[in-house]
Amino acid sequence: TPSIVWFRDDLRVADHPALHAALERGEPLVCVYVLDEESPGIRPLGGAAKWWLHGSLEALAADLDRLGGRLVLRRGPADRVIRSLVDETGAGAVFWNRRYGGPERELDTRLKAELTDAGLEVRSFQASLLFEPWTIRTGQGTPFSVFTPFWRACLAAPEPRHPLPAPDRIERADAAGDRLDDWRLLPTDPDWAAGLRDAWTPGSASARRRLREFLDDDLPTYATDRDRTDRQVTSRLSPHLRWGELSPFEVWHAVREHDRRSTAAAKFLSEVGWREFAWHVLFHAPDLATRNWRSEFDAFPWPRLHPAALRAWQRGRTGVPLVDAGMRELWATGTMHNRVRMVVASFLTKNLLIDWRRGEEWFWDTLVDADSASNPFSWQWVAGSGADAAPYFRVFNPELQRAKFDPDDAYVRRWVPEFGTDVYPAPIVDLKATRDAALAAYERVKAAR
Ligand code: FAD
Repeated sequence: TPSIVWFRDDLRVADHPALHAALERGEPLVCVYVLDEESPGIRPLGGAAKWWLHGSLEALAADLDRLGGRLVLRRGPADRVIRSLVDETGAGAVFWNRRYGGPERELDTRLKAELTDAGLEVRSFQASLLFEPWTIRTGQGTPFSVFTPFWRACLAAPEPRHPLPAPDRIERADAAGDRLDDWRLLPTDPDWAAGLRDAWTPGSASARRRLREFLDDDLPTYATDRDRTDRQVTSRLSPHLRWGELSPFEVWHAVREHDRRSTAAAKFLSEVGWREFAWHVLFHAPDLATRNWRSEFDAFPWPRLHPAALRAWQRGRTGVPLVDAGMRELWATGTMHNRVRMVVASFLTKNLLIDWRRGEEWFWDTLVDADSASNPFSWQWVAGSGADAAPYFRVFNPELQRAKFDPDDAYVRRWVPEFGTDVYPAPIVDLKATRDAALAAYERVKAAR
């Protein structure tokens, strides 16, 4: 009886424990990816994510082909799709790597119970996080809500396992599937993805290449220059990690083998630790994208939404150079430098006084690395409503941030060519006055505490 390997956010063949275990079982494989836009609670992908997914599935299909396998594409509610695939193929086992979002876990748990009851062997594996969220606990046995002690506890836990090798050969069992092009994941009318194509190549091969390049060329200056918006020294691995084209275990051990001692390496791994922390927080608060993590923020008096202000922010037409540069970089390439993400998020929530959820939604639709933990977690962190959040009164001053992290305006000029000319508009809001208004609004939260 064949084994089904259900690929989800782990679009790779190396260090893939579910694939590895299925091969050890010794029967032919049905490798499947399910596009699930129907199951309750599972958030439909944004536009940039769909673009990435198309490329990533193409790359995975090619990798599986090369090994003798085949990627079967199916669409629909995932539990129904997997059950019918079991019926069609007579599979005796279903293996997958774990997911950590609330609705995803519910679906997986239910399906696992049903298939097990029907006599199948069903196994799930740790593949996407270095530390399972339920294994890292405070001395009191509760989840962590602050990053530094969380990461200290992770570093004191057993070191993450070594990555598993890619298989040499896969024996496949046949099953019918969709054509990727029929899913229409790529934009056509209009085709807004030219900048994404220039900036990125989805797939494991390109992820590995970038990791090597980063370790050799950029890691040495990572600790000092990572906040510089005009220098590209960060790894740019986030979309590859998001889609699981590269596993955090591969990243962890590549860094450790390359450089065991430097502060730069420790700093970089701690950034990977922020990713772990975001999932840890989401695991314990599944509604992170819609609900204030600190409930006293429910008292925050968001003013009535001004659609024009939101649109100006989205399009990079606020008249605040660093904000506009970041938002245009995002629109063109599907990403934005981390420092600038913080600045534009602070500007939206504290200078425009627009609810962080509107910003989170825009990022969800436009980022190639958007994921259901890091994105809402980071938005809440900047807004002040989240775990380990910056104190509310820390309002980023976009002009000071520009002076500090883009001292020659190289980043701003790249994305806002009209900057410095008469055509470039004045700021749509007064930075000082809006900051004061935000602090006044925050008094309500303090009162609710
Ligand atoms: P590097 O500096 O090279 O870091 C290495 C890896 O660590 C990253 O690839 C990423 O996986 C992880 N990482 C680094 N910083 C963070 C962080 N602050 N939080 C979580 N993980 C981190 N990151 C996402 O992956 N998806 C998102 O949807 C996302 N949304 C964000 C929204 C806002 C408002 C903010 C302020 C940050 C957001 N981030 C998100 C975090 C961060 O900006 C990106 O991970 C980072 O810019 C990716 O660039 P890099 O791969 O070059 O990072």
